[in-house]
Amino acid sequence: MQQPKNAIVVGAGMVGLCCAYALHIRGVKVTIVDRDPVGDKTSYGNAGALAISECVPHSLPGQIWSIPKWLLDPMGPLSIRPAHIPQFMPWLLAYLGHSRKKNVSHIAKALQAINGRVSADYDPMLKAIGYAGKVRDKGCIRVYDDYKSFKLSAQEWDIRKQHGQHFELLGEAELRRMEPAIGQAKSFGVLQPQWRIIDDPKALVGSLREWLVSHGVALVTANVDALVTQDKRVLGVKTPAGEHFSDITLVAAGAWSKQLAKQAGEMCLLESERGYNTTLPYPNIALSHELLFAEQMFAVSPLTVGVRVGGASEFAGLTAAPNFKRSDNLLALAKRYLPDLNTENGQQWMGHRPSTPDSLPVLGPSVKWQGLSYAFGHAHLGMTQAASSGQMLAEVLLEPDKGTDLTAYSIGRFI
Ligand SMILES: Cc1cc2nc3c(=O)[nH]c(=O)nc-3n(C[C@H](O)[C@H](O)[C@H](O)COP(=O)(O)OP(=O)(O)OC[C@H]3O[C@@H](n4cnc5c(N)ncnc54)[C@H](O)[C@@H]3O)c2cc1C
Repeated sequence: MQQPKNAIVVGAGMVGLCCAYALHIRGVKVTIVDRDPVGDKTSYGNAGALAISECVPHSLPGQIWSIPKWLLDPMGPLSIRPAHIPQFMPWLLAYLGHSRKKNVSHIAKALQAINGRVSADYDPMLKAIGYAGKVRDKGCIRVYDDYKSFKLSAQEWDIRKQHGQHFELLGEAELRRMEPAIGQAKSFGVLQPQWRIIDDPKALVGSLREWLVSHGVALVTANVDALVTQDKRVLGVKTPAGEHFSDITLVAAGAWSKQLAKQAGEMCLLESERGYNTTLPYPNIALSHELLFAEQMFAVSPLTVGVRVGGASEFAGLTAAPNFKRSDNLLALAKRYLPDLNTENGQQWMGHRPSTPDSLPVLGPSVKWQGLSYAFGHAHLGMTQAASSGQMLAEVLLEPDKGTDLTAYSIGRFI
């Protein structure tokens, strides 16, 4: 096969930019096309964690029984807008199907195969773009009401243990010593030291984009309306201003990728799993770790732009207006467990996690078309897995001798 010389990447979120970087450093001439390359996007406002030890799939055995409780609780972690239910059903049914034990271990292994190389792929890129030292080795503490509640989540800790993830149990005194801001309602924690925290996800995405442009990568502001095809090959993309041609066309358009895959006749189950947060510029507390409140399922991230309180999984499609009541609810929960938290002057945000029902990204070449590849569907782990997704894809496209295997992430699994 002739070595590809140029590539079009659709999408300038963290995943698209990392793919562009991985192709660029291998000598490919890259053009990125995004309708809003510097605007707000999912990669800007997230919690900023490199959640390296997160190999636990979202759909787990027995979880189905928790779903009604979550849906009925207005402060709960899950909501589905009624108008979106018909469109959402196939995804939900597939999601529940993936909770079978044999699927869980296959998915955890595939997540771990990416997560295991996150730092090795991120660190050289961070150094090259001048962002080294701004991703801190802080670790994460999962906070529980007490030891009994921790024991109820034994299943997920067993999965982490089976995949070689080290963690440390923290009794009440140790938890309070490590994070004095946590109030009396919580008395048990688990430290996952592997997690790293990005100072400011928006600044990282901006630094990477600017580095790429200053090193010769073209950035085109345009909506990609369609793929340009001929016989069994994708030749490039069609925008309102004209067509762009290349040897490789890569769809990395986050939660919007499904439409382009559908045009290529490749169906996949992809939902926008909308998440909410509030960034507090004057939090009045100091945190040394990312905190995950396990029972209530929300995160508190110590970023340089403030403390960010977020979470929630809302299924309402790509166009429904945000319901910032969810950000308010998360803030009220945070105040309950971090009593000194100053919630004044918060900035609210909503983003579209691109989520597949099996918790795995869609990564690798098209099964139908030559010249077409995909990198989307990273759900809760898009920042974590972006650099490795780019490198793994570039290895498959340009360095086949490396033997990188993307079978588990292929779009072909939806057929
Ligand atoms: C509340 C919240 C917290 C999160 N916390 C974390 C975390 O701590 N750690 C972590 O790893 N992940 C986290 N995530 C997930 C992570 O943010 C996403 O997985 C990741 O940002 C997805 O990146 P992306 O590049 O695939 O998509 P995006 O950042 O959404 O970028 C997609 C781009 O494609 C462009 N586009 C779409 N369609 C077209 C088209 N037709 N033509 C041209 N351009 C197009 C869009 O304009 C956009 O710029 C979080 C997400 C949320 C919502």
